[in-house]
Amino acid sequence: MSVRQTGIGMTSQRTRIRMVERLREQGIKDEVILTVMNLIPRHLFVEEALASRAYDDVALPINYGQTISSPWTVARMSELLRGNGGNSLKRMLEIGTGCGYQTAVLAKIASEVYSIERIGPLLTRTRIRLRELGVRNAVLKHADGMLGLPEAAPFDGIMLTAVIPAIPEDLLKQLAVGGRMIFPKGSRKQNLCVIDHTHEGYIETILDEVRFVPILPGVVNR
Ligand code: SAH
Repeated sequence: MSVRQTGIGMTSQRTRIRMVERLREQGIKDEVILTVMNLIPRHLFVEEALASRAYDDVALPINYGQTISSPWTVARMSELLRGNGGNSLKRMLEIGTGCGYQTAVLAKIASEVYSIERIGPLLTRTRIRLRELGVRNAVLKHADGMLGLPEAAPFDGIMLTAVIPAIPEDLLKQLAVGGRMIFPKGSRKQNLCVIDHTHEGYIETILDEVRFVPILPGVVNR
């Protein structure tokens, strides 16, 4: 365990408990998600200078103009992904790895996670972080996530952590029957969008208003 982890360890556990209490007050009901978020040291996913704010209900900068989603956003999207009955998620795809916090949450609720990030240097840092934290069931890919990952499809769940103006059709094809996709949809006004792939077809549900950075095309190498 690193010095940094030990140093802030005690206080961060108390702060995490408070974060989980607040999530409950904000309407998060899935006990599995609350337990997982109580375990993961969120302060290790942001720069040291921001560590004291890691448990506040805000999105924080993570370099390269990107942000770590707020605790409520991560909790809400993860809860929706699992669905009411607590879906047994086997294979998951995440687009927009960023600092890897959402990836770490997904790795606890699914058996296999594939996560794609377009910014190379951001992903390099995240790879090290997830390895140090002992996350072993997440495969990270440096690529344009909008193409998905056909070689690993179909997925039981697909989550986008950057906003897109319309339903990503290519990704829909990689969603298993019985699977669920969740993403922020819109541009200036954004809402969480859930798509269920049923035997009868795709069903779309529009939910909470949110705020995300945009999906961008192509990859960044340095
Ligand atoms: N879940 C992340 C959110 C990061 S912000 C976290 O909590 O840290 C959204 C991320 O999506 C950014 O890292 C951005 O680089 C990435 N992104 C945007 N467009 C993408 C694309 N086409 N393919 C893969 N990643 C993309």
